[in-house]
Amino acid sequence: MRIDILTLFPQMFDGLLNCSIIGRARERGLVDIRLHDIRGYTHDKHHVVDDYPYGGGAGMVLKPEPIFEAVESIKSELGLSAVPIILLTPQGRLFTQGTARELAGYQHLILICGHYEGVDERVADHLVSDEISIGDYLLSGGEVAAMAVMDCVVRLLPGVLGSEVSLVEESHIGGLLEYPQYTRPPVYRGLAAPSVLLSGDHGEIARWRRKQSLLRTAKRRPDLIEKAVLAPEDKILLSEAFEIKS
Ligand code: SAM
Repeated sequence: MRIDILTLFPQMFDGLLNCSIIGRARERGLVDIRLHDIRGYTHDKHHVVDDYPYGGGAGMVLKPEPIFEAVESIKSELGLSAVPIILLTPQGRLFTQGTARELAGYQHLILICGHYEGVDERVADHLVSDEISIGDYLLSGGEVAAMAVMDCVVRLLPGVLGSEVSLVEESHIGGLLEYPQYTRPPVYRGLAAPSVLLSGDHGEIARWRRKQSLLRTAKRRPDLIEKAVLAPEDKILLSEAFEIKS
């Protein structure tokens, strides 16, 4: 997959692109991430990318010209007319694991990071194919949102994670939150890890984990448990879990 990111602050991506899972995925050629400084698509001496909002009001608005030109230049380099062009905005559809799965199915993505008061509306109306928000809160710029989207998408690409199995049970992948995790030592400051996890009984461990996953999803995210498709065994496990807790 190739991801092109339009931003006023390419340097903000340095850490993410060179570390951990994304860093390794890039090294292995599983993803090609290109940063484009929006200022590089201006034609004036001062590389002006923003201007006062028409109608007055606080702050500055990103001008449409450099953003249109940046996208057009990337599309012509790719030789593609149809590529998802996504504006990160608090007004977009909410990003979820489902959105990440959907985006991971594309060969190319173009992400546009806004800043200041946002982006001239003609970009949303006439250039982008999608608008995505990473949550109902306000960031200073789209960079953090683009990083969140990119991180979620890249870890879904084939071969990026060491163990494909680890994807299956993680939070939000199957609609539930993941079970609690423990590691050595078995007892720390008098706090013991659940004995079932040290029992070596894989059937019991799987049952315990499923029960914990159901219980914590029901308690922490009742909205998710309502939407989850539960097998009859899950319903039994869940009622058992609630009996134990109460
Ligand atoms: N004035 C805009 C509004 O009220 O909708 C908010 C502008 S915000 C301060 C600046 C930029 O941060 C936005 O253009 C967008 O790119 C990004 N941003 C802020 N919150 C976001 C969110 N929740 N999800 C995605 N992008 C966000």
